[in-house]
Amino acid sequence: PMREAARMTTADNRQLVLVDRPVGPVEDHHFELRTTAVPEPGPAQVVVETVWIGFDPTQRGWLNDVPSYMPPVQIGEPMRASGVGRVVASNDPAFTEGDWVTGLLGWQDYSLHGAGAGFGIQKVPDGLEPRAMLSVFGTTGVTAYFGMLDLGQPVEGETVFVSGAAGSTGSIAAQIAKLKGCTVIGSAGGPRKNAWVTDVAGIDACIDYKSEDTEARLRALAPNGLDVYFDNVGGPTLEAALATIAMRARVVLCGGISSGYDMNDLPPGPRNYMQLVIMRARMEGFIVLDYADRFGEAIAQLGQWVGERKIVYAEDIAEGLENCPATLRGLFEGANLGKQLLKVRD
Ligand code: NAP
Repeated sequence: PMREAARMTTADNRQLVLVDRPVGPVEDHHFELRTTAVPEPGPAQVVVETVWIGFDPTQRGWLNDVPSYMPPVQIGEPMRASGVGRVVASNDPAFTEGDWVTGLLGWQDYSLHGAGAGFGIQKVPDGLEPRAMLSVFGTTGVTAYFGMLDLGQPVEGETVFVSGAAGSTGSIAAQIAKLKGCTVIGSAGGPRKNAWVTDVAGIDACIDYKSEDTEARLRALAPNGLDVYFDNVGGPTLEAALATIAMRARVVLCGGISSGYDMNDLPPGPRNYMQLVIMRARMEGFIVLDYADRFGEAIAQLGQWVGERKIVYAEDIAEGLENCPATLRGLFEGANLGKQLLKVRD
């Protein structure tokens, strides 16, 4: 404890603080790197040292000053972000120094949790790779699980289309539909990602939406129409999917990253939403937090599939806290294959 106390007073806490709200893409100058003292834990509080940071498109939405499923990040606050780290000081009997934990740690070296401070943290279950709590066993894996199974309800023999199929959520959603005995089509940007989706993730076909006509390819690949469309991107891809749905199709609205999540400049459409009427189809959105009381079920099932190598997942790893803004922007530029992570320290 003595050595720990000495380290706590000499270390600095670097934080990337929001200083200006972006209009359009996130830029470095929207954040400022500030150095403060490492927080000291009060009664029932815990200090966590960030090791890994996870990047989620929804973080761009948190920067808009509009009401959403979570309050916006305020000017002067460290950027909110998921992370995995180690407990360095604890006044909560549930946590011990050295424990691996996950939660909203933020773009900072150290964060305070518990008893009125910060967001909740959870221990990384024994035997799991800590950073996998940010991908396949984290928000994106669980989103894929409930979005595909609860809303998409794929039935053996059906045809399923997943956009963003080389991404963290889409790659898992597509593989779950394969495990349910469906023919699965993905879409992703560029030949490298398309090859990964078919050759590594084992998806039946992948459309390079950047160089191919998505609707024409869907008509060729799914002559009987799409029974399920798991939408991560919105925009023109959603219109192409709606144009090719089968009777009683389920369109799962997971995300719409093609909008840039910039609420100042909303995209039009889908212009052909009347397809839902003609095909007696359903389009439904969801937020994964609604399933919080069932996360354990999803993680257990995903863990089994990963252990049996029935599901593979990819990670894309950046380094250095100062590179967080550019790394977040990269999601909107398709820079990542699989889950985008950033390593803050060894
Ligand atoms: P991700 O898919 O790993 O990364 C984002 C990907 O989006 C990029 O790699 C890029 O791939 C693609 N993209 C960017 N701009 C695009 C555009 N204009 N058109 C088409 N694709 C574009 O990120 P993720 O964390 O797994 O999130 C995927 C989606 O799920 C997002 O829409 C996110 O908001 C949503 N989500 C929803 C929930 C929920 O509770 N509803 C929870 C988690 C995530 P390409 O190179 O292929 O373009």
